[in-house]
Amino acid sequence: MDDGSGCRPCSVLCMPIQSSHNEMVGVIQLVDKLDGQTFNETDEKILEAFAIFAGIGIRNTKIFENTVKVIAKRQVALEVLSYHTSVSTAEVRKIQSFEIPPAQSYQLLDYGFSDFVLNDDDTIKACIRMFVDLQLLERFHINYEVFCRWILTVKKNYRNVTYHNWRHAFNVAQTMYCVLLRGHMKTMLSDLEVLALLVGCLCHDLDHRGTNNQFQIKTMSPLAQLYSMSTMEHHHFDQCMMILNTTGNNILSELSQTEYRQILHLLEHAILATDLSIYFKYRTSFFKVIEAENVDWNQVENKELLRGMMMTVCDIAAISKPWEIQKEVAHLLASEFFEQGDLEKTVLNVEPVDMLNRDKKDQLPSMQLGFIDSICMPVYKAFAKLNQELIPLLEGCQQNRDRWAMLAATNQLQASEGGKNGMKIEEDDGRKKCIDHSTESTQVPAGR
Ligand SMILES: [Zn+2]
Repeated sequence: MDDGSGCRPCSVLCMPIQSSHNEMVGVIQLVDKLDGQTFNETDEKILEAFAIFAGIGIRNTKIFENTVKVIAKRQVALEVLSYHTSVSTAEVRKIQSFEIPPAQSYQLLDYGFSDFVLNDDDTIKACIRMFVDLQLLERFHINYEVFCRWILTVKKNYRNVTYHNWRHAFNVAQTMYCVLLRGHMKTMLSDLEVLALLVGCLCHDLDHRGTNNQFQIKTMSPLAQLYSMSTMEHHHFDQCMMILNTTGNNILSELSQTEYRQILHLLEHAILATDLSIYFKYRTSFFKVIEAENVDWNQVENKELLRGMMMTVCDIAAISKPWEIQKEVAHLLASEFFEQGDLEKTVLNVEPVDMLNRDKKDQLPSMQLGFIDSICMPVYKAFAKLNQELIPLLEGCQQNRDRWAMLAATNQLQASEGGKNGMKIEEDDGRKKCIDHSTESTQVPAGR
């Protein structure tokens, strides 16, 4: 208090500044009143009120400082991520040097298209073919090098999960391409919408972790804290934007400001539409529009419904593929579901729903039937009504339904036969074997 000036204070009022949690964050001290009087009770009250405001102020400043730091940290993380997100110049050059085969050589215009025979470079070439055939590079002045980099970056940002990987995204895009050209849906859409749908298909599952929205919520993952609805789909869109904003990857940079704004909206809508709960929410309205006469497809709401439903049609199109492909893909998806189920058992200690439960794997045929009847058939029926060029999707779906129904019936029969004498038939590496669950140790030879 003695500052060395020889001036000795004769009246002092001192008080702590407290945070809302009652921790001391500072001290206020008043020395000598101007009028020479000593501090009194009124001064104390005024200072007490001031200390409360000072406490709030200090707290807010601290929060603000922390927020600034968190934002800066996030920015640094994004910069690092962005560097590792993109691909090397050598990779881009390699793709640029490729000759792009015509659509026929990959059967890109075939509803029964399969990617199994293609290597990864082929998938990239096929993507380029789709954009070229739809005249999107020309129409939107997309630089070829930027386009090659972007497509490679998109591929790189799919994780190596069992089902929701690059191959799935690629297949969804191929169906969209086929629906647009062979199914003539392109005639109902603007160029910008076509671009958004194709980009949307390729990006719609970016950075999928092989676990669904419910899993994010159950595990309280940071993603679920960011988005409580359509959690993963919001993330896929964010990743799509992150890639577009990474240097050398913006295939939309030559769009006019208005077009750019519009396409972001279209892209977000397309990607969010792949959440099946969104499909359920809007499909009744869509089916009504399909049933109505003289529909104005240029009306914003109708067009929006149409684009959203087209995304679903393409996302679940494996269900309409020739049986061999459908069977393979169904098993891939089931495997990914079971992996999530295993995590739920081990990490969350809960019993997963049947669809995710490895112990229920022999119920796959009946679950596929449920999936086809409740989700696939209605939307394919609607599109078949809209445009007869899309009937092959419905027919493919119907044929697979018959196959799954047959398998489900066989399973049921075997279960009821097995049930009578305590036996259950399980499939193991394609060989059927019967296990006697009444003793658990006896194995009955196959071929009973
Ligand atoms: Zn998908």
